[in-house]
Amino acid sequence: MEEDCIFCKIIRREIPSSIVYENNDILAFNDINPQAPIHIIVIPKKHVESVLNADGEMVRKNIYSNK
Ligand SMILES: [Zn+2]
Repeated sequence: MEEDCIFCKIIRREIPSSIVYENNDILAFNDINPQAPIHIIVIPKKHVESVLNADGEMVRKNIYSNK
């Protein structure tokens, strides 16, 4: 857990956000400053330094599954 990480703060509810979906692995929320009419940010609950470090299998399971 990274104290100063904005995404971790959102997960801990230290920063208010408009959460649209949450499960054990990820949390999705509406972007505060949307660049499109619908702009949802999906973040892994396990802190990662960069999305490039994200667990690819976990991302696929959550983002591409529609069950
Ligand atoms: Zn973090």
